[in-house]
Amino acid sequence: MSGANGSSTWRNWAGNITARPAREVSPASAAELAEAVRRAAEDGLTVKAVGTGHSFTAAAATDGVLIRPDLLTGIREIDRAAMTVTVEAGTPLRRLNAALAREGLSLTNMGDIMEQTVAGATSTGTHGTGRDSASIAAQIKAVELVTADGSLLTCSEKENPEIFAAARIGLGALGVVTAITFAVEPVFLLTAREEPMPFDKVTGEFDALFAENEHFEFYWFPHTGNCNTKRNNRSVGPAAPPGKLSGWIEDEFMSNGLFQVVCSLGRAVPATIPSIAKVSSRALSARTYTDIPYKVFTSPRRVRFVEMEYALPREAVVGALREVKALVERSPLRISFPVEVRTAPADDIALSTASGRETAYIAVHMYKGTPYQTYFTAVERIMTAHAGRPHWGKVHTRDAAYFAEVYPRFAEFTALRDRLDPERRFGNAYLRRVLGE
Ligand SMILES: Cc1cc2nc3c(=O)[nH]c(=O)nc-3n(C[C@H](O)[C@H](O)[C@H](O)COP(=O)(O)OP(=O)(O)OC[C@H]3O[C@@H](n4cnc5c(N)ncnc54)[C@H](O)[C@@H]3O)c2cc1C
Repeated sequence: MSGANGSSTWRNWAGNITARPAREVSPASAAELAEAVRRAAEDGLTVKAVGTGHSFTAAAATDGVLIRPDLLTGIREIDRAAMTVTVEAGTPLRRLNAALAREGLSLTNMGDIMEQTVAGATSTGTHGTGRDSASIAAQIKAVELVTADGSLLTCSEKENPEIFAAARIGLGALGVVTAITFAVEPVFLLTAREEPMPFDKVTGEFDALFAENEHFEFYWFPHTGNCNTKRNNRSVGPAAPPGKLSGWIEDEFMSNGLFQVVCSLGRAVPATIPSIAKVSSRALSARTYTDIPYKVFTSPRRVRFVEMEYALPREAVVGALREVKALVERSPLRISFPVEVRTAPADDIALSTASGRETAYIAVHMYKGTPYQTYFTAVERIMTAHAGRPHWGKVHTRDAAYFAEVYPRFAEFTALRDRLDPERRFGNAYLRRVLGE
């Protein structure tokens, strides 16, 4: 059943972006979606598909036709010979992960959460951390999309390869994705080792920590010299998930319940933030557990925030992080959220933040409702001085002229956009800024 209804205000997860679409539709099939695109063209309206609104940018905002993902969900096919799964574009990652686990299968790598839709997550280049395995989009084997003329197009390494090179991270600019085929592998176990470590030790040993682990990441707690590190490596088992109580204490109480209280207090009385950061980062303890991949990679994030994240050439990350630390130390800024550092290998997707270069990410966050511009602007200045590429779904101020410099394949993407969507049926203000008119 498809649905169409009038306009209501659309709001993203962080609450920093709102939009008033002319109308909303919830197609239940690729054919219905194509019909919605054709009808929008007849009415002279633009079209924008939305996922679960977890982007902090206005990537999904539209005053035209908003395509909701709710009815375009589910697994289409699991091909055990090819080791692939084909899934409807609106399927939440959570549902895909659970369905794959039931079949004894798994994706190779994931981001921090699994609330997003498969199309929404991949369209902005959502990634976790990895030495050898890259973003979720890099695990794509084929994409099916409805283009501006309402036709259905599929692309893969063999079929329309020039479209495949761009459409895996398409920013919603090339068409509306209707289904995605991902590579899968037999489900495996990861042993997670979480361990507090001083800032100077993590940054001094970063290259070794990165090289010795399949998935290494760390968090630095501003106003302190403390970090928490996380090393995830494949293991033969046995599975040893966190105990119910200790898991709840770490993932719900410390990371959500208590953290929410600390953030609210910090927002009300910013002067308390440094001392709370010192106490809470010292209270961290090491833990080790073993579980299936998505349970290790993802955890619930209930405390609302806004985020900016930049991808840097990997060799620049330690220097850039030290600059961020110096910036926080010499400024009156009070930051209650940890700064997150992750990595990705170079990939071959035109607008991937890791396109053609070994990458490390620095992400900064600010609690919802706290002014973030001063902090983000100062950090952004450091990141752009290192030819940083911002996450397409997280706050940034860059435009097409900047992207043409930091993405060697930028012109390839915009030429394809000109070919597939000459009238900018899928345009919005965000795309005008980042891709040009
Ligand atoms: C709490 C939280 C944690 C996060 N963790 C991570 C993380 O670990 N790693 C990371 O890299 N990012 C992370 N993000 C960012 C997030 O993964 C991305 O912003 C992602 O794009 C959101 O997916 P979504 O389904 O909500 O899509 P939306 O934000 O709704 O849309 C994103 C883009 O995809 C387009 N789109 C959606 N559906 C389609 C479709 N069918 N066809 C074409 N285009 C489409 C939209 O138009 C828009 O341009 C996080 C965000 C939050 C709020």
